[in-house]
Amino acid sequence: MSGRRHNPTFDDHRHSVTAVFGIHQDSHPHALHAPVLVLNASYEPINICAARRAIVLVLKGVAMAEEENGHFLHAARLAFRVPSVIRLLEYRRIPHQTRALSRKNILLRDRNTCQYCGEVLSASDLTLDHVVPRSRGGASTWENLVAACHTCNRRKGNQMPLEAGMKLMREPHAFNLHTSRHIMRLMGRSDDKWRKYLFY
Ligand SMILES: [Zn+2]
Repeated sequence: MSGRRHNPTFDDHRHSVTAVFGIHQDSHPHALHAPVLVLNASYEPINICAARRAIVLVLKGVAMAEEENGHFLHAARLAFRVPSVIRLLEYRRIPHQTRALSRKNILLRDRNTCQYCGEVLSASDLTLDHVVPRSRGGASTWENLVAACHTCNRRKGNQMPLEAGMKLMREPHAFNLHTSRHIMRLMGRSDDKWRKYLFY
């Protein structure tokens, strides 16, 4: 991307990259949303973001493109190669990632899978189950909430899993970097350009 710095148009628009992309978004509806793997300066995979954000990070000099997805994004009179993997130029300490406790994040952690029968369902067909029922003092925490289908949720009722003869597929944990990496691996499994950074 450094070669483009000679281009006066690029310099003119450097501060309004987002605005420039906004104008052209219609002509490339998917290009801007393509998932991009974000690596730390140490090549450790840390996140997934949309191509739009990845390009902004590259243009701001915060990250560099490690892999490209073969597509171009046209903005003003410039063409940008859409990255597939970017790497932060400065190492960032990633705190033990704490995600907000929400229905959406619980379903993401449990990958839309009922934790009792293993059925994969759409978000609307899943509910949140308190492993230790609320009526027994069970708290609304990462460790006590799991995705459950309506059938399992009803069957369990106000009982402990053992009492209902049900077993959790796995112990629920807070959404952490390990969970994120697992999701990154699921998403990157079929992408050759991501694989080498995710499977080692
Ligand atoms: Zn179920």
